[in-house]
Amino acid sequence: MSAPFPGVKGSDRPREACGVFGVFAPEEDVASLTYFGLYALQHRGQESAGIAVGDGDSLLVYSNLGLVNQVFDEKVLGGLAGHLAIGHVRYSTTGSSGKLENAQPAFMTRRDGGGIALGHNGNLVNTLELAHELDADGIEIDATTDSHLVCALLAQQETSDLVEAWRLVAPKLQGAYSITAMDEKRVMAIRDPYGVRPLVIGRLPSGGWVFASETCALDIIGAAFIRDVEPGELVVADENGLRSHQLSEAPPRLCVFEFVYFARPDSTLMGRSVYSVRRAMGKQLADEAPADADLVIAVPQCATAAAQGYADRAGLPYADGIIVNRYVGRTFIQPTQSLREQGVRMKLNPMPEVIEGKRLVVVDDSIFRGTTTREVVDMLRRAGAREVHLRVSSPPVKWPCFYGIDIPSRDELVGAFRDVEQIRELIGADSLGYLSLDGMLTSTGAPTERFCHACFSGGYPIDIPPETALTKNVLEVPRAAFNGNGAKRLPVSAAAAHAESTLPGLSEEG
Ligand code: SF4
Repeated sequence: MSAPFPGVKGSDRPREACGVFGVFAPEEDVASLTYFGLYALQHRGQESAGIAVGDGDSLLVYSNLGLVNQVFDEKVLGGLAGHLAIGHVRYSTTGSSGKLENAQPAFMTRRDGGGIALGHNGNLVNTLELAHELDADGIEIDATTDSHLVCALLAQQETSDLVEAWRLVAPKLQGAYSITAMDEKRVMAIRDPYGVRPLVIGRLPSGGWVFASETCALDIIGAAFIRDVEPGELVVADENGLRSHQLSEAPPRLCVFEFVYFARPDSTLMGRSVYSVRRAMGKQLADEAPADADLVIAVPQCATAAAQGYADRAGLPYADGIIVNRYVGRTFIQPTQSLREQGVRMKLNPMPEVIEGKRLVVVDDSIFRGTTTREVVDMLRRAGAREVHLRVSSPPVKWPCFYGIDIPSRDELVGAFRDVEQIRELIGADSLGYLSLDGMLTSTGAPTERFCHACFSGGYPIDIPPETALTKNVLEVPRAAFNGNGAKRLPVSAAAAHAESTLPGLSEEG
C-alpha cells in the first residue's frame, strides 16, 4: 500500500507539472515582480524555483531546489537587475526532481553567442525523438528534462531571431507546453496547438507586459488580465509592444483538471472563475448524487467550493468539519513508521464538535489511489460521524496523464478497474457518488469539446508513444534501451488501448 504521507513518495494527490511567469517592464523591478508572481504560482510546483533576467545585452539565471521563498532572498533578487525576466516553479514529470541541473529556467547559448532562457509547464510525449535529434548533432546537455531539450533545439538553430527559431522548432514538439522564454531583449509566451495547460497575458499599470500560468499571478502584482495566450500562439513582448504569431492550429483541449483541482480558486480560466465553476460542479453533483444527510463538509482545501455548491443545491447546512494544516509542504525528512501510520493526520484534523452524531456528506474533488480517502473516512468515524456519504466532484480517474500531471499508474488508480460499489467498499464509506463526465464538463460553462478529459475517459487528444518512452526519467537511462530509434508514436485510436494493456505509469513520486 502506498503511504499517503504528505509530500513524500506515495502521496495520494496528483502533482502539477510547473508554473511559468514572464515580464517585460522597463520601469519596474522585474526580479521582484517575478518573485511575487512565482509566489502566487507556488501550488503548481514546489521542487525548485528560478528566475532569469535580461538587460538588453545579457542574461542572468538563478535557480535552486526548494520553495520560492527558500530559493530567493532580497540579496539574490537585488543581484538580478534588468528590465525583462521569466520565472519558473517546478514539479518534475520528466527528469529527476533532486537534480539541480533540472531546475528552470533552462539556459542555453545560441550559435551567435547570445542566450536563451526558458521555463516550461507541461510534458512532451516525443522527448526521445528530440533527444536523438540532438544526439545526432553531437549536442550534449547536463539536464534531463524535456524543457532543456527544447531550449537546446532553439539554441542550435542557425537563425539568431528567436521567433524564427520557434517557427522551426515548434512543429517538432509533440505534447503539452505552455512556455515563457526570453533572449536578451524579448520575452515570449508560447502555448502548444491544443492549449492543454493554461497561459495568460496581463498588463501592468506602468504599461509593462506580463505572462503567467494563472491569473492569480497577475493579481498579486497589480497587473490587469488582458486575455489568454491562444492555443498554438506565440506572443512577443519587447520595446515595440506586444506582437502575436499564430504558429499552429488544432482543436483546443484545455486540461479540465485545472478547473477541478489544480488551478487556484481565485484564478480565471477561459474567462471563467475557477471558484464559480467548482461551486457549479458541487451543485451538479447534488443533483446527480443526492444523499440523506444532516451536514455537508469538504475535504480541504480544493473541494471547499464544490462542497458549498452541493450544500446550496441540497438545502443542507455547510460547515468546516476538517481543518487543514496549511503549513505542511514538501518534506525531505523521512517519517518514522508510527508517523507514517498517522498518515493523513499530518495534514488534516477533524472537528468532533461539528461532526459528532451527524450524517455527513463529505465532498472531495477527486480520488486517485484512495488511500487518503479511506483514512479520511476512518478519521471522521473515529471523530464521531454517524454516517459518511462521500461525494466526488469529478468522475473516477481511470487513466494516466501524458501531458504534465503526475497521476499514478493504472494499477494504482482505485477507479481504473473497479465499479463505484467496489470503490465504496474499499474506502469504507456508507455511500459513494461521483460527478458524471458530462456533468463535470457542462459545469465549466464552456463548450464541452474544448477540454482534455483523458484521465477520466481514456480519450487522449494528442497521440502518445509506447511505454518505453514515457517513464519520468526517460533521459537518464541509456538510449539503447529504447531501441535506438526514438519513440514510435501511436495513433490516438490505439493509444487508450495501449495504455490500458501496457503502461506501468509515469510517476516515481506521484
Ligand atoms: S489527462 Fe487529465 S490531467 Fe492530463 S491533461 Fe488531460 S484532463 Fe488534464
